Amino acid sequence: MEIAVAPDMPTYSGGLGVLAGDTLRSAADMGLPLAAVTLAHRKGYFRQYLDANGVQTEEPQPWNIEERLSPEAPVITIEIEGRPVAVRAWRYDLHGVTGHSIAIYFLDADLDQNDPRDRVLTDRLYGGDSDYRLRQEIILGIGGVRILDALDYKAAVYHMNEGHAALLTLALLEDQLQGQPLATANDQDIAVVRQKCVFTTHTPVPAGHDRFSLEQAHRILGDKRTSFLEKKDCTHEGLLNMTYIALRFSRFVNGVAMQHGKVSREMFPEYNISAITNGVHAATWTSAPFQSIFDRHMPRWRQDNVTLRYAIDISEEEIESAHTQAKQLLIDTVAQRTGITLKADVFTIGFARRAATYKRADLLFTDPERLVRCAHEQGGLQILYSGKAHPADEPGKAKIRHVIELAKELNSDAIRIIYLENYEWELGALLTSGVDVWLNTPKRPYEASGTSGMKAALNGVPSLSILDGWWIEGWIEGVTGWAIEDNDDEADEAGSLYDHLERVLLPLFYSQPQQWRRIMRSTIALNGSFFNTQRMLEQYVVNAYFPEERVQQTVEKPDAVLAR
Ligand SMILES: *Cc1c(COP(=O)(O)O)cnc(C)c1O
Repeated sequence: MEIAVAPDMPTYSGGLGVLAGDTLRSAADMGLPLAAVTLAHRKGYFRQYLDANGVQTEEPQPWNIEERLSPEAPVITIEIEGRPVAVRAWRYDLHGVTGHSIAIYFLDADLDQNDPRDRVLTDRLYGGDSDYRLRQEIILGIGGVRILDALDYKAAVYHMNEGHAALLTLALLEDQLQGQPLATANDQDIAVVRQKCVFTTHTPVPAGHDRFSLEQAHRILGDKRTSFLEKKDCTHEGLLNMTYIALRFSRFVNGVAMQHGKVSREMFPEYNISAITNGVHAATWTSAPFQSIFDRHMPRWRQDNVTLRYAIDISEEEIESAHTQAKQLLIDTVAQRTGITLKADVFTIGFARRAATYKRADLLFTDPERLVRCAHEQGGLQILYSGKAHPADEPGKAKIRHVIELAKELNSDAIRIIYLENYEWELGALLTSGVDVWLNTPKRPYEASGTSGMKAALNGVPSLSILDGWWIEGWIEGVTGWAIEDNDDEADEAGSLYDHLERVLLPLFYSQPQQWRRIMRSTIALNGSFFNTQRMLEQYVVNAYFPEERVQQTVEKPDAVLAR
């Protein structure tokens, strides 16, 4: 549903879209025969404005798709709520480091022949009501398969990145039935579809799984398709459930980190769910100063991310010099945006992500007096926040207001807290590379993976994090960062956070700079070399896409894989 393709294309909302884009960037680097499908999102996600009290307002982000994408000729027609809806595709060619490119298709319903109600269906990412969402998912899933057919792709595997695309399984089954009604599908037909489908589930938060009422489904998706899905057990608690559709019709299913695999097996005990831990695209998320150091020490790190392991050979002085440059870039940007000049030698904490409540942006402020005292006694603290709340997420918006209110109250010589407006790709890159530690305080076990700490790791920025998501695998205490102990008592969790700051992080940073730089270096070597989308995609190829065919694949030409 979302792919972060380029910083000036507002076609994503957060981690899910950035992950999709990073996956495709690695696929292009590796020369994999793969194409991607998403929606045009002509009006983008939203631009966030925050007033002095932290109240969020939103504006659309129209962008010129005609300028950035090339039109494709085919127009397909699908039926939504009894009306024919014509859909076309726009192509973006994503180029990899080895010169290979892959195509991303943006589906667009803004065509003259469509009813005005349908022309807006591919305008807004996660906008509108749940009817709007179901219509979008019909375009994405069913329209996606039809467009790939029309463009002459013969795909061996369809990877549903999240349940939003689950209806593609229906389109594949209809193809398999060659015009016969869905009701006639037998086990053999379903097995053919399952053999082609791979599904990645992305969240243990129940609201993250799309559900639609049966009334909606019958009205919008149609009686025949809905009745078929009902018969095939794709409903849960009386609702049509996109995750169940994807689970029923996929041969391989995975969660996005080891623990998320376990949690997903508990949520869906009747399914065999694997885990493939997320990553980030190394070259995209490494700041320019570190890129040039890596180019010097590990010249093939862009082609072979594993060589980031050899960062262990980089001198502490080079690490320090690159980080100082990245931090200065961030300080300059903060000054431009807010008029506030941060200090380069003061310990700086970063916290930026979607303002979803389970991420608990305000855990750091559980005991504001202790935080201020700690800043006073230890040499000062700077804390940078950023993140958008979904327009309908009132509790998420309340978290933003809370952080901004506390910032106003607490700001002094010793502590400076800033909430930066409109968190997007470029600000994300500046923050994850320019701060001294990356803070992550989700309520366990709701963070399926998290990826921004991985971006920080590539830039030598260690994490201070609850042991949730990827951090369970990335954490080596005092080597790649620090774990905040979690239990059911938020005050205890905050206590562990403060203990770490007071007793470990601040003394190390201010009194043992040499040791701090060694931690920065081991963070790159140990976590940058593993938590990247190149390693992740290799795991998808070997375990999910072509589990039986790995040996042949290495001797066949890529074209042969495409044609299979
Ligand atoms: C990386 C990124 C995210 C994901 O952050 P998490 O830590 O995984 O929540 C969200 N938004 C933007 C703009 C990002 O760059």
